[in-house]
Amino acid sequence: MNHDSLQVAVTGAAGFVGSHLCDALLAQGHRVMALDNLSTGDIGHLDGLLGHKAFTFQRRDVCLEPPRDWGEAQRIFNLACPASPAYYRTAPVDTVLSSVLGLWRLLELSQRTGARLLQTSTSEVYGDAQRHPQREDYWGHVNPNGARSCYDEGKRCGEAMLMAYHQERKVDVRIARIFNTYGPRLRPGDGRVVSNFIVQALQGHDLTVYGDGQQTRSFCYVSDTVKALMLLMGADEIGPVNVGNPGEHTMLALAELVLRLTGSRSRLVFLPLPQDDPRRRCPDIDHARATLGWQPEVSLEDGLSRTIHHFRQLLGQQRVIVA
Ligand code: NAD
Ligand code: UDP
Repeated sequence: MNHDSLQVAVTGAAGFVGSHLCDALLAQGHRVMALDNLSTGDIGHLDGLLGHKAFTFQRRDVCLEPPRDWGEAQRIFNLACPASPAYYRTAPVDTVLSSVLGLWRLLELSQRTGARLLQTSTSEVYGDAQRHPQREDYWGHVNPNGARSCYDEGKRCGEAMLMAYHQERKVDVRIARIFNTYGPRLRPGDGRVVSNFIVQALQGHDLTVYGDGQQTRSFCYVSDTVKALMLLMGADEIGPVNVGNPGEHTMLALAELVLRLTGSRSRLVFLPLPQDDPRRRCPDIDHARATLGWQPEVSLEDGLSRTIHHFRQLLGQQRVIVA
């Protein structure tokens, strides 16, 4: 982003990625107006920011008319949407509405004010991809009405709406396609694989591997993801741009690594694979390298160690049930 101090709005600010983004924006000297309905977020993630003179927070749904003072925002990051399959399967209506109606509200606002709007889209637009690694020009392979479609198709519709507003109404948009991101402030009970495995390992419970564990994901540490979002916001590139770590790992390999790094003697238990769970996921990040000069810096082992440290501290304070 620019080095000048900007007025920046962030939706989904109390979430995992959103709270790290707020930290980074304030550290760069920007003023941040944050919004979250706290459906999957945790206000505790913003504890260190609530007294900051350049930070304001409103508990509010992004599907409502944006707050009046958001007319002053020069940049808007839209992160308001559940991101964990375990959660959005239980709240499909909220998920699709956040992705479509919430984004529409922000596009209308940006059209009125000229604010630049960055949407956090997802690797899920590629669905159960038939091409590897996934490049931005691949159209994807998505079930339009399956268990994950509230999220996958919600985000795909979001991309279509962003491009429609950009082409017809000249709204200044950016699209980041984020691949699996992990790190401190993942909520222990939110159901994603990294938080599940770490909590299970630290509590001495079986690690729940879904299916045969041969499906792959590519895990990007949260500081790398946040850096890419801020670079894209400041760049001339509209996107979509893949934001992810090209290291590809099976869930079995991830489970073994978590066991090794935690020193846990937990065992693996195999549970049914959820419907439409993608078999392989790996970003091609040539576009991000060329347009943003970005690539991930934190290795999986290093990032997991930092995340494990965070969970050790958290679990010392509370009892957690894994979703
Ligand atoms: P998260 O669930 O931790 O954060 C989402 C935040 O949005 C939460 O604080 C939640 O309370 C809030 N929210 C949800 N619906 C809302 C609504 N209608 N109005 C206001 N606030 C609402 O998830 P995250 O991992 O931080 O993901 C942030 C964004 O990045 C999401 O849009 C997600 O789709 C996208 N993304 C994340 C990943 C990842 O691996 N973390 C991957 C791809 C895309
Ligand atoms: N997964 C698993 N055990 C768990 C949670 C998830 O094996 O306890 C698998 C899941 O089936 C998927 C992968 O881990 O293949 C990543 O799941 P996650 O929910 O973190 O994100 P996704 O990439 O599916 O959105």
